Amino acid sequence: MSDDGKSPEAGDPRKLLEEKILADYARLGPNDRFKFGCHPGVSCFNTCCSDVNIFLSPYDVLRLTERLGITSTEFLEKYTLLPVHRDMTTPVVILKMNEDEAKQCPFLTENGCGVYTDRPWPCRMYPVGLATSKDTEDGWRGERFYFLLEEGSCLGHQEGKEWTIQEWMDDQEMDAYDAWGEAYKELSLHKFFGDIGDLPPSKMEMFFNATYDLQRFRGFVFGSTLLERFDVDEDFVHQMQSSDEALLRFGFLWVRFALFGEPTMRVRAEAEQAVQESLDRRVLSKKSRSSESPQRDAK
Ligand code: SF4
Ligand code: SF4
Repeated sequence: MSDDGKSPEAGDPRKLLEEKILADYARLGPNDRFKFGCHPGVSCFNTCCSDVNIFLSPYDVLRLTERLGITSTEFLEKYTLLPVHRDMTTPVVILKMNEDEAKQCPFLTENGCGVYTDRPWPCRMYPVGLATSKDTEDGWRGERFYFLLEEGSCLGHQEGKEWTIQEWMDDQEMDAYDAWGEAYKELSLHKFFGDIGDLPPSKMEMFFNATYDLQRFRGFVFGSTLLERFDVDEDFVHQMQSSDEALLRFGFLWVRFALFGEPTMRVRAEAEQAVQESLDRRVLSKKSRSSESPQRDAK
C-alpha cells in the first residue's frame, strides 16, 4: 500500500515504474561503461520477448504502422492495450502480447524480432533505461540519467563486448526515437497537469488522436474547417498530406494550442474577421429584437 492509501495497482503504470527506478537503480551517464551482447548464439535468445510490458510512444506507433503498412487505428485496435487508471493524465499504450499461454510478442519470429529496424524504444534501449530525476523544483523535468537493467535470466550481460552508454545509443540508432521521446515528454509532463489537473474524456480523446491515432487526426485536420480557420504554412500542409511524421509534428503543436492554451497556432485574419462579423450581427439582431418587442407594463 502506498502512503496515500491506494494500492499500487490503482496507479498509472508508467509512474509506478518511474518511482521504482528512482528509488532502486544506480544513475549512469553517457560515458559510463557496461558489458552486453545479444545475438542468436546466446542460449536465452528470444526468451525475453514474451509476457512483457512494452510502453509505446507516439513515434513507436508511427514507425510500426509504417512498417506493417496498416493505419494507426488498425494498429491500435489489433496490437495494443489501452489500460485506464484513475491516476492517468495522458494515454498509456502497451504492446499487446499474444493471447495464448506463451504470451509472445506478435512480432517475434524464430530468427528474432520481425520488425527489428522499427522496433519500439524500450526494445532498442534494453538493457539500458532512461529516466528523469525528480529532484528539481519543477518536478519531473529534472536531469536525465541512464540505468542498467540486469535481469538474471538475461545472459547477454555475460557477453564480452564493452560499451559506453553513448556507444550503445548510437549503435541502436536512438537519435530520432530520443528526439521524439523528449518532445512527447514535454506534452505528457506539461505543467498544465500540475496546475489544472486531469483532462476531461473529450480532451483526452483529442490528445490521444493527435499523438497516437494519426488516421483519426488526419480526418480531423483535412476533413474539418481547421485549415481554413488557422494559418498553417502551405508547404507544411503539403508535407502533412503525404507524411505521418509531419502530421505528428502538427499534432504536438495542436495539443499545445488546443489543450494547454499555448500560442502555437495563429488564427487566419479572414477567419478572425468572419468571427467578429458574425458576433457583430448577433449583437445587432439581439438589439433590434429587443427594441421591437412590446414594453411590459410596470407592476
Ligand atoms: S518488438 Fe521485437 S524486440 Fe520488441 S518484444 Fe517484440 S519481438 Fe521483441
Ligand atoms: S534475454 Fe538478454 S541476451 Fe537473451 S535475448 Fe533477451 S536481451 Fe538478448
